[in-house]
This record gives sequence, structure tokens and C-alpha cells, in this order.
Amino acid sequence: MAEKPLPGVEEAEKIIAAFPVTTRIESVPLLAARGRILAADIPSPLAMPEFDKSAMDGFAYGSDDRSPAYQIIETIAAGATPRLTVHRGQCAKIMTGAMLPAGADRVVRREFTLEANGSMQITAEDRNRNVRKKGEDLQAGELALERGAALQAAQIALLASLGLAEVPVARPPRVGILTTGSELAEPGTALGPGQIYNSNSYSLAAQVCALGAEALLLGSIADNAEETAEAIASSLQKCEILILSGGVSAGDFDYVPAAMKRTGFTLHFEKIAVQPGMPTVFGSRGEKAAFGLPGNPVSTFVIFEIFIKPLLLRLMGHAYRPLIMPAVLTAAYGRSQGARTAFVPVACREGRATLVAYHGSAHLHSLSRANALLRVPAGQLSIPAGSTVDVRFI
Ligand code: AMP
Ligand code: MG
Repeated sequence: MAEKPLPGVEEAEKIIAAFPVTTRIESVPLLAARGRILAADIPSPLAMPEFDKSAMDGFAYGSDDRSPAYQIIETIAAGATPRLTVHRGQCAKIMTGAMLPAGADRVVRREFTLEANGSMQITAEDRNRNVRKKGEDLQAGELALERGAALQAAQIALLASLGLAEVPVARPPRVGILTTGSELAEPGTALGPGQIYNSNSYSLAAQVCALGAEALLLGSIADNAEETAEAIASSLQKCEILILSGGVSAGDFDYVPAAMKRTGFTLHFEKIAVQPGMPTVFGSRGEKAAFGLPGNPVSTFVIFEIFIKPLLLRLMGHAYRPLIMPAVLTAAYGRSQGARTAFVPVACREGRATLVAYHGSAHLHSLSRANALLRVPAGQLSIPAGSTVDVRFI
């Protein structure tokens, strides 16, 4: 009987996208919301600017008043309320951000005036009105930020300027990270013979944290069927999404897919036609989802980027679309087998994509110099130098 073809990248993406998620909403202080996703539309409680104000240090007067000199009737500091109305032949000295007095609709900046004996003369034409009108940025009640917005410094500044101290955000998922491999040692300890350092826990945790989700390092386990199943079962109590690294291939000591089944997971796929990362496993059990990723560090990284990141962002209320841009390939790309879609690390600068020296899915040093992935469709073996390609930023 012919073997069932592996799901391609799009199919695997669809399967993961069909996993149902419920977002939980919480209200958090502004600074704790950095990197999180807004869970509700925010109508502006205020007009912005809040009142007509001066954009300059200068003198406020009536724009149709062309008197040769203007009597200064008061000085208005930012935060003060003007007491007097400006009439013809009069002006008020005014500071940046101060409220415009009645009778004035224009400000001449200080540098364009001469001030002496309580009066002001305009010495050069100021082309600008230098007035910020109430509500010119936002009207009260107008939509200030839309649900789904990613909250970074500019959005947090806007919320603060509207007087909001707390903001509703989707609660980020807790993502458990469990590495398997009897060869693994932790950074900071001495390496025994045949051992390597565990890097996948750290790359995965960094990727999870970069999204604003919570990463739980649940440790490393030896390649052992019992231990793997036990670790999966106990890890599930601590997280909504579980990521396992290693132990998914065809080796004698690869126990993860069987352990996932034993712990009650339905496996939706056990391989993807992708390079690197073919033996990727995705399963669900009720509201929990788990991924088993091949241990090769570049595979782990790429599979997270392409398949897991969109799910985590969806759990956080974000309708994520990866940033894909055209770039000119600086050197020819070639591969010997083309059955799978490949994601190849590239360094992309100023519209030019350079393949980083890349010899396989274990090469973290190459990956560390890349900032994007070149997607090579299944069936394509080469791309000539100078071609315009799409790169996906990481
Ligand atoms: P596996 O998927 O378990 O067959 O592992 C594939 C390759 O990735 C092997 O060379 C492992 O030593 C390596 N590897 C597995 N887990 C890790 C890890 N946590 N950090 C770095 N390399 C790993
Ligand atoms: Mg292993």
C-alpha cells in the first residue's frame, strides 16, 4: 500500500489553526501590558489635545489683529488657566502647552518678536498658527486603540495620555518546555564525555518570552519511555501548551510520540513535509495542546517560528500575520532534494538577502547571524543569484 503523503506546510498550519482556543481576559497596570495584546476596543475618554493650546513659547493674539504693537496683558504658564480675554492691540505671553486665552487664535513664537516695557512687537512673520486645536488628534469617544493591538511603547504612551492606568489584555498562555535527551547537560555545568549543552530549552523560552507569553522551564529528562510519559502528565498540570524537544525521530530511544499517546493525546500529525523539522508532532488533549519537536537546534527554532508562534499569538488574541518582504538573493541557492518546503536562514539587509553559511539543522552559529527565513517551495531545487525572493523575518 502506498504511504500517505506527509502534510505540507499549509496543511500543518491549517491543522494547528483549527485547534480551538479560548482567550482569558485580565486587567493589568499599564507597564505590565508591554508586549501584550489589547483585549477590547478603547474609546478615547478625552479629546486630544484636551483644550486649545499653544505649540510654542510666544505670544497669543487674534490672527486678524495687525496692530504695530501688542500690550502684554498676562503670562500663561502650562497648567495655568488664562484669566483675561485678549482684545485688539493686546496679547498674552504664553508657554508651550499652555491653554489659549479667549480672544486669541494664533501664537507668534518668541524668537520672532521684540518684548519691551510690557509690550510686544512682531519682527518676523511666523507662518504657523502654532495652536494645537482641541480634539485634532482624537475626539472624545473616538476609537483610540483597537482590540488586537500589540501594546508597545507608543500604544502605552497613548493609553497613559488618555489617563488610563489599567488596560484589558488577553492572559498569555503558560507554555511548558520539556527537553528530552540523555546527552544533555545544563549550561554552567561541566560537560561529561558524549554530552552536549541543552540549548533548546533556552531558545524556546526566549522565543516564548519574546511574544509576551509565559515560559516554564520544566527540565530535561533522560530518554526513557516511562519517565517521558510521567513528565508529560505532570507538566500538563502546570501549562496550557507543552513543547517537548527531542525524541521524536526514528531512533531506538525516541519515545515522545508514544508517550504523548499514552498520556491521552490525539496526534493530529507526526511529520510535516518541511525542512528542517520533518518529524514534528502535534497533539491535543481537551484544551491543552502539545508539540514534539526534533532536537536539532535549528529545527526547534524554525518549527517554533513557523508553527507554534501563530498559535501562541492566537491564544493571546492576536490575528498574527508574519512579516514577509521581497529581497534580492545575493548568491545562488541550491539543494539536492526538493520534496519538502525548506526554510533557509538568511541575513537580510537593505533589501538584499544573503544565505548564511548553513550546513544543516544543527548549526546555531549560522542561525545566530540570520534575521529572516527564505522559504523554498516543495519541488524547487535551486534559486539563481539576483532573483527576487520573499523572506520571512524572525
Ligand atoms: P533527537 O531529536 O532527540 O534525535 O535529537 C537530534 C539532535 O539534536 C541530536 O544531535 C541531539 O543531541 C540534539 N539535541 C537534542 N536535544 C537538544 C537540546 N535540548 N539542545 C541542543 N541539542 C539537542
Ligand atoms: Mg534525543
